[in-house]
Amino acid sequence: MKILVTGGAGYIGSVVAEELLAAGYEVVVFDNLFQGHRQAVPEAVVFVEGDLADRRAIGAVVKEHKPEAIMHFASHTLVGESMQQPFLYLRDNVVNGLNLMAAACEFGVEKFILSSTANLFDDPKRMPIDESEEIVPGSPYGESKNILERSLRWLDKTKGLRYGCLRYFNAAGATKERGEDHDPETHLIPLVLQVAQGIRNKIIIFGDDYDTPDGTCVRDYIHVSDLARAHILALGALDTGSLTYNLGNGQGFSVKEVIEVARKISGHPIPAEVGPRRPGDPATLVAGSEKIKKELGWKARHESLEDIVGSAWEWCKGHPGGYD
Ligand code: UDP
Repeated sequence: MKILVTGGAGYIGSVVAEELLAAGYEVVVFDNLFQGHRQAVPEAVVFVEGDLADRRAIGAVVKEHKPEAIMHFASHTLVGESMQQPFLYLRDNVVNGLNLMAAACEFGVEKFILSSTANLFDDPKRMPIDESEEIVPGSPYGESKNILERSLRWLDKTKGLRYGCLRYFNAAGATKERGEDHDPETHLIPLVLQVAQGIRNKIIIFGDDYDTPDGTCVRDYIHVSDLARAHILALGALDTGSLTYNLGNGQGFSVKEVIEVARKISGHPIPAEVGPRRPGDPATLVAGSEKIKKELGWKARHESLEDIVGSAWEWCKGHPGGYD
């Protein structure tokens, strides 16, 4: 079975491509390499460099390869950036996603998996956050994913396109060969590990006056391989209908806990300094993933923070400057 992976040169997309190959799928990666890395793309895939803004280009790829399913990762993904540059998200993320969905419908692809986000839940009434929570996007980024989720619901009704929406909490960790390398880097774990590698002097903790046990924000870090497996399980389940799942480890870890674990693993003191809060950060975000556990038998294999941060540290040591 052939799968088209957009954004397959990016962090999560490249690990999903790796897992798909290991599970015996053929993979075509479509990526413009603006943020992704050619070295992250597994050798065994067919790689096509192209931009989803180019309707003809993506149409041609879908027509030529006739994938059985599309997994869509290519996207701008930064909450903060989306507050500064909303059109990158409200226009580009949305239009590019719709160009891809249109190509799927035009050339007979029946299954579509969307990489969605916890940023749909800006005002959660319950913690952990399950699929019954009201959708309140926290930024133009979250709104762009909301629009794409809603578009998929209409395409299921009108065109029979079966979708899986997977809403990730904080993707983290690495496989042996693939890890997190963003420019600029904004995520906590890679930044903390850059301090451990001597690339940065210190980590700034964005606020320690939140209503959490140690005052720093609590997040649900989920290993990227566990995320990847969820995509493969979801793909199999699309035969019986569309689905939407919240995906996390189900455990919350504070910023201070992440730094402490990184100190233990790296043996580096990792100087930390408390700075102001980062606008838009909720105190706590933890996923309720019971639905995917019950329905698809998914379970996180890397539950401990030591395991998640440890895998990222191993990758960093092997790739001191990232992929390049
Ligand atoms: N964070 C921090 N310092 C940094 C980067 C992140 O204290 O230099 C905090 C951030 O406020 C959040 C948590 O770490 O509470 C995770 O942030 P990240 O950007 O990795 O993911 P997000 O939760 O925003 O998706």
